Amino acid sequence: MNALESQLDYPFGETLPERGSAVEVAPGLLWVRMGLPFALDHINLWLLRDQDGGRQGWSIVDSGIDDAATRAAWENVFATKLGGLPVLRVIVTHMHPDHIGCAHWLCERWNVRLWISATDFNVARLATSASAGFGGPLSAAFMAQHGMAADPDAVNKVGARSNYYKNLVPALPLAYRRLLDGAEVAAGSGAARSDWTCHAGYGHAPEHMALHNPAQGVLISGDMVLPRISTNVSVIDIEPEADSLTLYLDSIERMRTIPPDVLVLPSHGRPFKGLHTRIDQLQAHHAERFAEVLEACATAPQTAFELVPVLFKRKLDLHQMTFAMGESIAHCHALWLQGRLERRIDDGIYRFSTA
Ligand SMILES: [Zn+2]
Repeated sequence: MNALESQLDYPFGETLPERGSAVEVAPGLLWVRMGLPFALDHINLWLLRDQDGGRQGWSIVDSGIDDAATRAAWENVFATKLGGLPVLRVIVTHMHPDHIGCAHWLCERWNVRLWISATDFNVARLATSASAGFGGPLSAAFMAQHGMAADPDAVNKVGARSNYYKNLVPALPLAYRRLLDGAEVAAGSGAARSDWTCHAGYGHAPEHMALHNPAQGVLISGDMVLPRISTNVSVIDIEPEADSLTLYLDSIERMRTIPPDVLVLPSHGRPFKGLHTRIDQLQAHHAERFAEVLEACATAPQTAFELVPVLFKRKLDLHQMTFAMGESIAHCHALWLQGRLERRIDDGIYRFSTA
């Protein structure tokens, strides 16, 4: 555990649910953990004891990627953890493959509706049929323009990665029910039924929905607030002038309206308490990265690609490199759009220097 993590409180200690199993973290709320084929090797998913009309059952929050191992783990959960009750709906916090990949299978398996923000539903549909910043020729051209042209091999690899999203999200439900910022979603069974308030967050995904239950003192934070790693915040090819990092920092600042003693259920890592402390840490983390970028750009104009080793001191694989490029551009853009950096284009390459 690092020094920052030790400022957080992990009420379940080292406990982790085994694959295909579940751990109860609050009354009627189960924690499920599925594998991922990335450096980030797991995702947390949640099951809410629920009812729909007179029908008793469960709501699923987030689905895992769609592969044989995830489907098998879900079947095991269904057989052993639901008390013989059905799944009543599938709620998805945002459109990234680890969250929405298996949703189409779950919705078909149980003949239930997907609940998600309108933006994420529609961008997910776009991403299954075209490039949406996850690799392919448009991503490659965008990253080349931000300095990756200095490494043609990396550009080629990004360009060749055109089926990344579709491989992990082969299909989507054809219809959905819309989650809106501030809307309340009732869940729970009988006297334990209570409202979850949707908190829209920007900068990580198009329109991420975290879910806060004030009565239970629980926040399903999705990827907006994670205890151990900082959330990826990228600028991608389909919105090349985006200010994703300012959107993200504004979004987590707004989460301070949620009480500090809330139990946070993040998509990666372990459930924790200390929401406001973690928001402080994330804001400080990005303030430090901004200072590093400004220092480098004061010495000489920099491309986002040249700034990657300034921001990320460890060795990166291709998957991590695409995230790192997006993050580097996001830091440059926040400073550029605040007027603290200037952006120039020379020979088709963007460079940032102190204003
Ligand atoms: Zn995500």
